[in-house]
Amino acid sequence: MKIKEHKIDSDHVSIDEIDKTSGSFEEGLPDTIVIHYTAGPSVSSAVNTFKDPSVEASAHVVIDHDGSITQLIPFNKIGWHAGESSWLDRTDLNNYSIGIEIVNAGRLEKTGSVWRSWFGKTYSEDDVLRAVHRNEEEESWWHVYTEKQITATHDLCRNIMNAYNIKHILGHEEIAPGRKSDPGPAFPLDKLRNRLLHSNRKDQGEDDADKKTGVVTASALNIRSGPSSSTSTIAKPLSKNTKVSILKEQNGWYNVEVKLRGWVFKEYIHNTE
Ligand SMILES: [Zn+2]
Repeated sequence: MKIKEHKIDSDHVSIDEIDKTSGSFEEGLPDTIVIHYTAGPSVSSAVNTFKDPSVEASAHVVIDHDGSITQLIPFNKIGWHAGESSWLDRTDLNNYSIGIEIVNAGRLEKTGSVWRSWFGKTYSEDDVLRAVHRNEEEESWWHVYTEKQITATHDLCRNIMNAYNIKHILGHEEIAPGRKSDPGPAFPLDKLRNRLLHSNRKDQGEDDADKKTGVVTASALNIRSGPSSSTSTIAKPLSKNTKVSILKEQNGWYNVEVKLRGWVFKEYIHNTE
């Protein structure tokens, strides 16, 4: 993947240019990437919405479940993905940022033994994650992202960073808290930006603990949504010798990342780094 004349140059990327922009970025911009979920069922529903002239929304790219990318707006043009937003001393983040939309249903409701999106599609246990949103206190159910989507997002961000002077990678939920919940806790946003923006790690609220790793020493270790045994488990227990990345420590618990992120009792983690 390469970026040529503000468009992704790759056989695996389709370019489907739309005219919903506010013109070119100012000199030195964009310097920010904003990550979103589409809150929809498919790439076609997202692209059709962005193409609809009656909808005042657009984004630079959409990433499908299989990791394939559709680019709608060249990266030097201002899109309409952030809406009313603020970050540090800035407002209206559209004027600073590239918008990446990932096809994902967002928050799900549990009904009986299935989970349902706002648009009526149902999901099985493998498709859901129970977690507390960074802007909330109660747990919700979230549609999981595919590994291919996460890898494609990482690769795309890295390529965008090679072409532009990117300083911030943010979630829509961080620039419009209360109004927006995307990309939500199922997306590894902190990990993504820590990997891509090392020098900004402290600004992003993560301390150096996020470099540590460990292995599980208990035969079965509950992984929970919060740092307390009164919070619910979010997946099957981790088995002995599972490798984890340790992101944070709080009250004797580690926040770890395996394929998902949750809290385990730290006594049962042996630090390996
Ligand atoms: Zn959004």
